[in-house]
Amino acid sequence: MFNKVLIANRGEIAVRIVRACHELGVRAVVAYSEADKYSLAVRLADEAVCIGPAASARSYLNPSALISAALMTGCEAIHPGYGFLSENPYFAEICAEYKLKFIGPDANAIRMMGDKALGRKTMRDAGVPTVPGSRGELRTLEEAVETAHQIGYPVLLKPSGGGGGRGMRVAQNEADLIKAYPTSKAEAEAAFGNSALLMEKYLPQVRHVEIQVLADQYGHAIHLGERDCSSQRRHQKIVEEAPSPAVNPDLRARMGEAALKGVRAINYVNAGTMEFLLDPDGNFYFIEMNTRIQVEHPVTEMVTGIDLVKWQLRIAAGEPLTIRQSDVVMRGHAIEARINAEDPDRDFMPSGGEIEYYLPPGGPGVRVDSHLYAGYSPPGYYDSLLAKLIVWGADRNEALARLERALREFVITGIYTTIPFTLAMLEDPPFREGRISTRYVPDLVQRIK
Ligand code: ADP
Repeated sequence: MFNKVLIANRGEIAVRIVRACHELGVRAVVAYSEADKYSLAVRLADEAVCIGPAASARSYLNPSALISAALMTGCEAIHPGYGFLSENPYFAEICAEYKLKFIGPDANAIRMMGDKALGRKTMRDAGVPTVPGSRGELRTLEEAVETAHQIGYPVLLKPSGGGGGRGMRVAQNEADLIKAYPTSKAEAEAAFGNSALLMEKYLPQVRHVEIQVLADQYGHAIHLGERDCSSQRRHQKIVEEAPSPAVNPDLRARMGEAALKGVRAINYVNAGTMEFLLDPDGNFYFIEMNTRIQVEHPVTEMVTGIDLVKWQLRIAAGEPLTIRQSDVVMRGHAIEARINAEDPDRDFMPSGGEIEYYLPPGGPGVRVDSHLYAGYSPPGYYDSLLAKLIVWGADRNEALARLERALREFVITGIYTTIPFTLAMLEDPPFREGRISTRYVPDLVQRIK
């Protein structure tokens, strides 16, 4: 195992990684921007290094500052968390050049899966079902029109190098497509510096179901079942659960096997997530692979009892994955609610300020992953995630009841949070009954306005 690891991230995930390091006897060095001087991760770390100003481009996205921090403090590895440089193949390469172990897959896997057109092609060639769509990138508007004609409307334009749901557009017909094509292209260029688009058939009634995988460098790979992330606002997940109310053991085994086929096809190493869309008839289609730890990883940890972040560290350190597929058993039900610094009554406008009181919930089956404390002012430069409340129950009903009571116990004052919105969702029959699609949250937002 490593002696010392640099954490190239902030917020709750930096805290999560510090905790994993400490449980493994690894010293944790936190890289922080000037805006994060008073962060909880800095307080919990064994050492902390300031890597630059608040703006991410000059700190958390600055490879040379991070590499210097790691070398200066004698770290052997860098954990990138999620977001920032976690899916940047160049960063993984630079780490390797400086003999720093990047805690994640190799640069090649990151590059392949970061390019959605290439990722789709690679997975389709490996025998993983993908959404019907363009062969690769769309080169011209004519090709887009031709492809849409073949697969049938509605269609979805997607930035090939994108993420976070940006630049995606649905076209219901040819006129829509002719209008949407240049707009999507321009948005993709502005957001990702890459205007390449691909096209998929737009599937109207689907759930987002993703499979967690773990793979070591000796060719052993397992899947840890699914997470259902169908409740999304602007393609951003809000509530995630495991298992999915729409997946039975047979479907889980088939989706898991498809995910592992993909993993083997690219010799993937470390933790990763294969994302699928699941239609009401039980057909599933690969959409993308995330080559990092995900925000919603705790629900998988709660139902399997397997610590994903510790396994990321062990696998990166060269240890074999000692868990066999038959050892993975999903027990009970877990649900995560993301609590964001946003005001749900004012169109989820970002909210700032000092946290006056902070009292997280407790009791049976409750876990809170957060970087908050009373007196802390979350800096406005980064994402709005304040806390993740994760509950476990013997079954889905117990988990729902626990989530509700824990949300009601949660005290965060001085700042607006999305807790009231999640409580409203919990009372809403479609969500309670587990029969929602990815279009559910926008509909709920309209209904409770
Ligand atoms: P990003 O990387 O930007 O998050 P994804 O490809 O992961 O983009 O898609 C994000 C979300 O968009 C999915 O979870 C789903 O809700 C929706 N989506 C993506 N592809 C399709 C599709 N072909 N049909 C319908 N919805 C889709």
